[in-house]
Amino acid sequence: MLPVIYHSIYSDFPLPDGHRYPLQKYQLLKTYIEQQPWPVQSFEPEILNSDTLKAIHDAGYVDALITGSLPLVKMRRIGFPWSHALIQRSLTSLGGTTLTVDKAIEQGVAIHLTGGYHHAHHDFGSGFCLFNDLILAANHALSSPTIEKVLIVDCDVHHGDGTATLAQHRSDIVTLSVHCDKNFPSRKPESDIDLPMPIGTDSESYLREFIPCLTLALALHQPDMVIYDAGVDIHTDDELGYMSVCQAGIAKRDSAVFAACKAHQIPVAAVIGGGYRTDQTALVPLHAELIRAALKTYFSNLETHYPNIES
Ligand SMILES: [Zn+2]
Repeated sequence: MLPVIYHSIYSDFPLPDGHRYPLQKYQLLKTYIEQQPWPVQSFEPEILNSDTLKAIHDAGYVDALITGSLPLVKMRRIGFPWSHALIQRSLTSLGGTTLTVDKAIEQGVAIHLTGGYHHAHHDFGSGFCLFNDLILAANHALSSPTIEKVLIVDCDVHHGDGTATLAQHRSDIVTLSVHCDKNFPSRKPESDIDLPMPIGTDSESYLREFIPCLTLALALHQPDMVIYDAGVDIHTDDELGYMSVCQAGIAKRDSAVFAACKAHQIPVAAVIGGGYRTDQTALVPLHAELIRAALKTYFSNLETHYPNIES
């Protein structure tokens, strides 16, 4: 059974009308998965103890954000109004990415139905990201006796700037960011490997560049664990991405990551990352490709029993 990590709080915190954060997509995706005859097993994360965050974030920033005393200008940079529910949601989703790592180490692969807060830096958040779950989960993985190096493969359309700065002086966390070169954030600090792509990049060009880059990253760094941000904001209809990748291209990208990790026997913890559409139901099939790709890669003998894995 494929471990899928989810909590109902992911779609449950107050946002002003018209806010572009796709709050409902998490529960829509979970409902869609439940409706499929797929061999998945759900796990509900526990809320993370905020002190854990002080290993990667500035303690003053953590305390101020948790207690609601962060200056308004810094909350505006994050892009959410402060609420107790927002903090609970954020800490639960951080617990979710670490649980996803645990399940991936146990079972080879696991998927988190949120996560990918790659714009959170040491002492400030931005772009809907409060705390960096990718670095936190990488740190968590490194506490396992079998994991000495983690590769973060960030395929969200936006550059993983917070992840890059937080991992800058670490040899045990390697960062790879594949992103649109003319998109947020304007300042893009260096990841270990950056693969910028021009506006309008289509599926064929994307895969032609990305797959050899992934192969090279795995060969060069030989990680013991991969954390994969499978953002679908590379899709041609995404409202915050400027690329032209189609749904089949996203499916091929996700399959390529899982196939490479499986071939090297590297456990992979995947998070769904970004994806922005006013009609949030349109995001569900795009994010569902990640689950489908994992099922096809790791449970391929089940295809005859679960025909709609292949669609
Ligand atoms: Zn994004």
